[in-house]
Amino acid sequence: MDFYTLKTKCRTEETRRLMSQLCPVCGTSSHFECRTQDADIYRCPECDHCFSDPNSLKSFEDYGTEYYEETHQNWFKKPNIALFKAISKAIAYHKQDATVLDVGCGRGDLLKYLRRENPSLSLTGIDLISNEPVDGIEFLQTDILTTDMHQRYDVVMSFLAIEHVVDIQKFVSRLREMCVTDGIIILTTLNDRSVLYESAKMLRRLGYKAAHDRLYSQHHLNHFNVSSLKRLMKANGCSIVKTIFHNIPLAAVDFPSPSPALRMLLLCGVWATFAFGTLIRRTYLQTVICKQ
Ligand SMILES: [Zn+2]
Repeated sequence: MDFYTLKTKCRTEETRRLMSQLCPVCGTSSHFECRTQDADIYRCPECDHCFSDPNSLKSFEDYGTEYYEETHQNWFKKPNIALFKAISKAIAYHKQDATVLDVGCGRGDLLKYLRRENPSLSLTGIDLISNEPVDGIEFLQTDILTTDMHQRYDVVMSFLAIEHVVDIQKFVSRLREMCVTDGIIILTTLNDRSVLYESAKMLRRLGYKAAHDRLYSQHHLNHFNVSSLKRLMKANGCSIVKTIFHNIPLAAVDFPSPSPALRMLLLCGVWATFAFGTLIRRTYLQTVICKQ
């Protein structure tokens, strides 16, 4: 066992509190906030960005078939049509026959929706998984962080991928490189200051950790708030055009095998946090539309 592995394994709650990590958004020394079942969580005192220490993870998420077909079954069965409509409108407003790249396209639901709405768009999706060819959509199986893409697109979008990435500076820089000079970048991610997240933190303090552990599991490494996301994009040379506050369809929420009664109770709780979050603009998700 090398020294670094030994050091990581020997961490106690006290040493975690004494250690600090640099904020991936602004570089400020950040404080240990808590230990979940999967990771050590840190928070930046400057931009309030919350993130997992990648070295503390038990394991990195494997984005194979299991991720799409079991763990997030409802998520992928019930696409976020309200968000798709908003993105389609933003693209049409920018350029009717735009070339569009979806980074981390998953099964390509958003691209398929855009294809139906506007067949004049030229659509490409990139993901770590492979996709069956679809008429009018090009799918590439690659990692944008390690592969050079030579083509440039009018619209580069990424739907709920950036929170899975360790090097978010490089990720945004790559999105910019793949976007034409007067193009737009559309980015959707989680909102760590949403009513849903705050409710999970409160429940954790009361001793119920399941909801918090689920939100801060090993596959979500960067928990943006509205200002930390804007700060990241601006620091990388983008200007923010608009932020859209939104949730996911209630039917898309996945719970890890609870009883029907418990599932109903949890759904009522999630519905309440979504409704209140919409009212005060602290929704579970946020989408920024930026200019290069
Ligand atoms: Zn920060």
